[in-house]
Amino acid sequence: MEKLFLDNDPKFRDIEENIKYIKERMSEAAVKSGRKPEDITLMAVTKTVEPKYINHAIDCGINLIGENRVQEYLLKKPDLKLDGVKAHLIGTLQSNKVKKIVGQVDMIQSVNSFKLAEEIDKCSENLGISKDVLIEVNIGDEDSKTGLDKSQLDELMSQISELSHIKVKGLMAIPPICDTKSEISTFFHNMFNLFIDIKQKKYDNSDVQILSMGMSSDFYEAIIEGATLIRPGTAIFGTRKK
Ligand SMILES: *Cc1c(COP(=O)(O)O)cnc(C)c1O
Repeated sequence: MEKLFLDNDPKFRDIEENIKYIKERMSEAAVKSGRKPEDITLMAVTKTVEPKYINHAIDCGINLIGENRVQEYLLKKPDLKLDGVKAHLIGTLQSNKVKKIVGQVDMIQSVNSFKLAEEIDKCSENLGISKDVLIEVNIGDEDSKTGLDKSQLDELMSQISELSHIKVKGLMAIPPICDTKSEISTFFHNMFNLFIDIKQKKYDNSDVQILSMGMSSDFYEAIIEGATLIRPGTAIFGTRKK
């Protein structure tokens, strides 16, 4: 009965077609930027999406999901078919929620302060693990954004180099809303320059490989400018319910 119902839900076919389309566009952009399609990782952002649709995306080949809220993810997790699938936290994380999430995700992309990094390090040590993280940078210098000020990136990297249960794998950014593609490309380009700079400095406890940028409306431009991981949500699952 349930299977019949699922097969009749048009959203299932949409998700499948959306993923196919995004993968084609990703390959195009990868080649255009002088890389191979497999050099770019596709994350499906699953915030507010019901487990049955997330599981369908996984059946369609998605092997990395991104969730924003600790509580929402922990509620949905028992219903997800996560065999062979990785999950990252991409939303703002408060220090007091670190304990709940650190053992439940493969990476935390939203580290924006030393206080948060210290808490992740402490909770990881208690679990006997080391946690991979990205530093979220406020590339547009917006007051409203939660990322780290780019002028503080080197200081944070050297502070984190003293911690032993956390590893910086790269950078993440959410650029400002822009009117033109060329404006957004400039922010992506600035992120790429920061990424190369931080990579070359080879701080202890870092292995900088990942540049996470590009969402539904701008992942093509992000890849052109050097993104290694893109984070579309709406383009896969359709418009989110509020
Ligand atoms: C919601 C969200 C996305 C996906 O946004 P879309 O516009 O739906 O593609 C990507 N990254 C982060 C950090 C998000 O919060």
